[in-house]
Amino acid sequence: MQTPSNRIDRRDLIVGGVSALALGAAGAVSFAPPARAAAPQVGPEKPSFYRFKLGSFEVVTLLDGLRPGDGPHPTFGANQSPEDVAALMTANFLPPNQMVNSFTPVLVNTGREVVLFDTGLGAGARPAMGRLADRLAAAGYAPDQIDIVVLTHLHGDHIGGLMEGDKPAFANARYVTGSKEYDFWTKTAPSTPAAESAKAVEAKVVPLAEKMTFIDDGASVVSGITAMAAHGHTPGHMIFNLESDGRRLVLTADTANHYVASLQKPDWEVRFDADKAAAAATRKSVFGMLAADKVPFVGYHMPFPAVGFVEPMGEGFRYVPASYQFDL
Ligand SMILES: [Zn+2]
Repeated sequence: MQTPSNRIDRRDLIVGGVSALALGAAGAVSFAPPARAAAPQVGPEKPSFYRFKLGSFEVVTLLDGLRPGDGPHPTFGANQSPEDVAALMTANFLPPNQMVNSFTPVLVNTGREVVLFDTGLGAGARPAMGRLADRLAAAGYAPDQIDIVVLTHLHGDHIGGLMEGDKPAFANARYVTGSKEYDFWTKTAPSTPAAESAKAVEAKVVPLAEKMTFIDDGASVVSGITAMAAHGHTPGHMIFNLESDGRRLVLTADTANHYVASLQKPDWEVRFDADKAAAAATRKSVFGMLAADKVPFVGYHMPFPAVGFVEPMGEGFRYVPASYQFDL
């Protein structure tokens, strides 16, 4: 608010500024520098990998890509009104009708084996996506160093990077996936509405079947990495518990796929969940366990770097992004 006594005229300010500048600190007269062209803007960029220690393991989250688009409704909260979903977004400082999905494969170097969890969309699948190979290189790893590729489930955004043309992208790797998952996509899905996705499995996963180990709940991938059944998103969706020197982290894959909608409202239906009731029950049990044990997790579609915690809130959970917990 201005009153006549404290009002400063714009022209007084300019005149005052010029005279202060012209006199300089030492009172000498100075001149403006010669005009220069403005530096070109470089464009937005986000961190593309995040490498941290978990006990004696090294863990790297790798950003395969970001996909902006409409939403979260009706993909998330398919059985809710658009207004209710929009209101939840607004209450969480997010735009009501637009979202960005992110895709985050994870590399774990146990010191003895290099294990890659999921492979992104595949190079060239969509503009500016399928960046796993670049991200691996930036993080200091080469594709031929990967010993084991674990597939949490066989959706296109997880298997897209397995093959480069008709050659395996990870020349020295063997593969691990859920037996129930593989059986569904190769035996049941081709005759269901999921037939289109089954074609991708036929092209990308089936050629590698000879080098694949099929696992069930409780299987050990390597020492310190254990599979847990987390069915619902797909029939054989698996998550993985990492444990090293007393530190724990769970790779929750696609158990929850929007950090607000899926965690705060775990019962809201998600279009990509094959069995909606089972997916909701799995969300509540997995994140209930993580909240109770205060265990960090990496979610494949959480905002990059995709590492965080959950605490109970209302009927669901609040996402708490990790900060310096892994720096200590
Ligand atoms: Zn996914």
